[in-house]
Amino acid sequence: LSSAELVKETFAKIETIDPKIEAFLALNKEQALAKAEELDQKGIPADSLLAGIPVGIKDNIVTKDLTTTAASKMLANFKPIYNATVMDKLDQAGMINVGKLNMDEFAMGGSTETSAFKLTKNAWDQTKVPGGSSGGSAAAVASGQILASLGSDTGGSIRQPAAYNGIVGMKPTYGRVSRYGLIAFASSLDQIGPLTRTVKDNALILNAIAGHDKRDFTSSAKEVPNFAEGLDGNIKGLKIALPKEYLGQGVASEVKEAILKAAKTFESLGATVEEVSLPYSKYGVPVYYIIASSEASSNLQRFDGIRYGFRASDVKNLEDVYVRSRSEGFGDEVKRRIMLGTFSLSAGTYDAFFKKAAQVRTLICQDFAKVFSQYDLIMGPTAPTPAFGLGEDIDDPVTMYMNDILTIPVNLAGLPGMSLPAGFANGLPVGLQLIGPQFAENTIYKAGYAFE
Ligand code: GLN
Repeated sequence: LSSAELVKETFAKIETIDPKIEAFLALNKEQALAKAEELDQKGIPADSLLAGIPVGIKDNIVTKDLTTTAASKMLANFKPIYNATVMDKLDQAGMINVGKLNMDEFAMGGSTETSAFKLTKNAWDQTKVPGGSSGGSAAAVASGQILASLGSDTGGSIRQPAAYNGIVGMKPTYGRVSRYGLIAFASSLDQIGPLTRTVKDNALILNAIAGHDKRDFTSSAKEVPNFAEGLDGNIKGLKIALPKEYLGQGVASEVKEAILKAAKTFESLGATVEEVSLPYSKYGVPVYYIIASSEASSNLQRFDGIRYGFRASDVKNLEDVYVRSRSEGFGDEVKRRIMLGTFSLSAGTYDAFFKKAAQVRTLICQDFAKVFSQYDLIMGPTAPTPAFGLGEDIDDPVTMYMNDILTIPVNLAGLPGMSLPAGFANGLPVGLQLIGPQFAENTIYKAGYAFE
């Protein structure tokens, strides 16, 4: 099979499958085909496992000459003049970007329902949400349109949609992957990562996109190991912790069952699983919504109707340009976060909100550090329930926010976390989450590969 044939086949698949899933916001037909033909001419290097493979990209990762909307009316016609670092890296690996994938507006949401453009459906049941915010990235892979995609994860947005769609999603350690060219939501939490069908594919793609980048001063100079190398199925002696809070209130009994079964599987593979406690994790959701919204309120100031994107028409004066462009360009969820963030950072409330949240964030980090002084990995569910119904939670922000209770602490502590399939509950996939110490993605992949 030539690379051009594979790309053509992929677009044919998208044409038949996507009308029912609605994962793609834009297709990259001409550029993708040109790239494939170029590869075919040059010849694909024998040692390359990624060259010529089609990949889809979450629409908050900037792609040169291809619309990048963050699923917002604000950026509906935005065509970047540069590539995110991860795009250059995928290109160097020979991967072919076939299109941009739907998401919650500016990555704010957990169901892809805050997108200004379309409703993406769960790959297993089209009456259910695909999760979010990387819902398009997960559903496109799970429905068999593409083998891999990139997403972003600020509070669970790679892992939760991966769980809801029964695929593998990795949020790497903060700093492992460059954020240059990722449209910023909450800069101290955002990370880009791969969504794939298998653990090994995931490891290969993380290898392609990881590494230091001088254009992102928070990217780490730490050496990037070969993540795919240690995958041999041997996890004898691995010490796994199971926090009792992760099976607590709000976690559906079928999900609990699937996770306890996974614990047994790990034991049968020669690992040990012991119960531990992460007492501060219960504060993760409120702490996250203060910190993430504060950072978002600052990051989104640039969308002022002047420099970027949407501008309201028939404006009276400069003030009117700002107010009306932002009022009309942003959706409700984004506005809710901007207001909450601006409030938390205000002179009169800063100490009681932002500062307090930052202090509790430190306690959450210490919780994890304590467990990782004795264990190699933490396991638990990715989300408290399987995918919920389209339209079910969208008018109830607090219920929606609680879906992230098990993924958010990982971002607050900058740790790597991966979701992988662990069976089904009532016909819908359940996600197992594996969390490691900073820069221990290789341990997570090793355990995931053995479990898979
Ligand atoms: N669902 C969470 C939120 O709404 C997480 C989103 C994300 O990780 N981008 O903020």
